Amino acid sequence: MSRFLIDRYQDIEEYTPGEQPQNMDQFIKLNTNESPYPPSPGVLAVLNSGEAAKLRLYCDPDCGVLTKKLAELYGVKPENVFFSNGSDDILNFIFMIFCGEETPVAFPAISYGFYKVYAQLHRTDALKIPLKEDFSIDYKDYCGLGRTIIIANPNAPTGQTLGLAEIEEIARTNPDNVVVIDEAYVDFGAESAVPLTKKYDNLLVVQTFSKSRSMAGARLGFAIGHKDLIADLTKIKYSTNPYNINRLTQTAACAAIDEDAYYKENGRKIRETREYTVKKLEEMGFEIIPSKANFIFIKNDQIDGEKLYTVLKERKILIRHFTDPAIAQYNRVTIGTPEQMDAFLNEVKNILREEE
Ligand SMILES: *Cc1c(COP(=O)(O)O)cnc(C)c1O
Repeated sequence: MSRFLIDRYQDIEEYTPGEQPQNMDQFIKLNTNESPYPPSPGVLAVLNSGEAAKLRLYCDPDCGVLTKKLAELYGVKPENVFFSNGSDDILNFIFMIFCGEETPVAFPAISYGFYKVYAQLHRTDALKIPLKEDFSIDYKDYCGLGRTIIIANPNAPTGQTLGLAEIEEIARTNPDNVVVIDEAYVDFGAESAVPLTKKYDNLLVVQTFSKSRSMAGARLGFAIGHKDLIADLTKIKYSTNPYNINRLTQTAACAAIDEDAYYKENGRKIRETREYTVKKLEEMGFEIIPSKANFIFIKNDQIDGEKLYTVLKERKILIRHFTDPAIAQYNRVTIGTPEQMDAFLNEVKNILREEE
């Protein structure tokens, strides 16, 4: 820390991203919930075309073409859509402008680790609501709460979901507060709350191209909600970095939307591989939280969570371990291709045998 950093930022406990090793090709990477499948052919074609030569020029700060396309895909109007540089960027804006002294925030005690970082960064009081024993969220805890509410659905790192009726009840009973549903993993089997945004002007849905659309490295997130919420987000984007979606990402994302069927099929494959992996792990004595995401949250009383993570890493398989004592016995494993999961399952079997 330099002696110049102003007081309010000195104590921030920053987010620790999952490892992104330089020599990535040597690893089976099951630690940050990326898609194991490449971007669709049209996206690759854009990146190999003359598009790159246009990098000389600024990009469209409104993401006009992209916004129109995405609005069409989701059955909303362009005025209901906001794009930013990854959904993390949008969550940052949400904490910045919808959470504060008068409107403190609430989110599940076990959820996406970034929420508590943003709460600290933007100095809002955060109520961290415990999960039920089985790691599910009790929606009643959020009804009539009178705070800004952020819920990941499916939740991370557990993969548990709330149903639409439950989300609707949360939005309905908090009419004077923004309710944010972070749907980073919705395409792997949960129901999207996007249709409810037409009925509730306080409901904001956040999604990303990072997980189901194989574009984590391109950095693109979006929010769908009432036009006034979108206008607020847009105001802040234009007050910080209007050109925050680069030209190549905008064009690539348009191609991805045109090839939506490709990503739907990948989603189907990943769900199938998830069910296969769960079955094999259960046979090895693992407990697995029921997941509707592209990852599973697993533990086995035969081996410590941190140890399993460490030994797998030595053998060039990366999974995610969290140090939070409440979940330290668990590991989060991204669902890869069937071949990657077989290699993972094989190594896990070896490690358990060595433990005996
Ligand atoms: C991955 C993830 C994000 C961040 O996604 P980006 O669009 O890559 O910034 C947001 N929320 C949750 C719950 C996630 O798991």
